[in-house]
Amino acid sequence: MARAFIGFGGNIGDTRQLITDAIVCLAQRRELQILAKSCFYQSAPIAAAGGDYINAVIEIETELSPYGLLHVCQAVEQEFGRERAYTNAPRTLDLDILTFEGVSQNDAELTLPHPRIIERSFVLLPLLEIAPNFFLPNIGELKSYLPQVTNQRIEKLPCRNCNCGEKDVSSQTAH
Ligand code: ADP
Ligand code: MG
Repeated sequence: MARAFIGFGGNIGDTRQLITDAIVCLAQRRELQILAKSCFYQSAPIAAAGGDYINAVIEIETELSPYGLLHVCQAVEQEFGRERAYTNAPRTLDLDILTFEGVSQNDAELTLPHPRIIERSFVLLPLLEIAPNFFLPNIGELKSYLPQVTNQRIEKLPCRNCNCGEKDVSSQTAH
C-alpha cells in the first residue's frame, strides 16, 4: 500500500459540488481508501483562462501503481465531463497526482512528484492543511515554500459540518 496525494481544480460550473462528487466516486473504489481531505479553496487562475478556480487536496492509501492511479484519475475527469479545448483552457475538473509515496520519475505520461507542487498556493495550502509537516526527498519541507507563493491570491472557503484535516474519515461527503 502506498500513500498519495491528489489535487483537484476546476473553474467551470459548480466546481465545489463536482469535487465533492468526484471524491465520493473515488471513495467507492475498492483499490483506494481516502485518509484525509482538505477544505475547499478559491484561487486566482495562473497561466489559465477563465474565472477563479476551486481547489482541494485529498490523501489516499492505495494498492494501485502510479499509472493505475493516474488512469483512475483520468476516468473520473472523463466521468465529470472534463473538456480541454486547448492548453490551459478553462476546465470542469482536473485531477493531478501530487505525490506518490516513494516514487520519483519524469516521463511524458506521469511526472512525480508533480512538477508544480511547490510553485502553487492552490496546491501548497490545501496539502499542508491535511499534512502540515509534509516532507519530500530532494525538495524538503513543503511549508518552507509558502513564502514564495504569497503573491498568488487564494482564500480558504468556509465549510459546513467541517471535518477538514481529520484522519480516517470514513464517510467522504460534502462539506
Ligand atoms: P495540467 O498540467 O494543467 O494538469 P492536464 O491535466 O491536461 O494538464 O495534463 C496533461 C498531462 O499531464 C496528462 O495527460 C498526464 O498524462 C500528464 N501528467 C504528468 N504528470 C502528471 C501527474 N502527476 N498527475 C496527473 N497528470 C500528469
Ligand atoms: Mg492535470
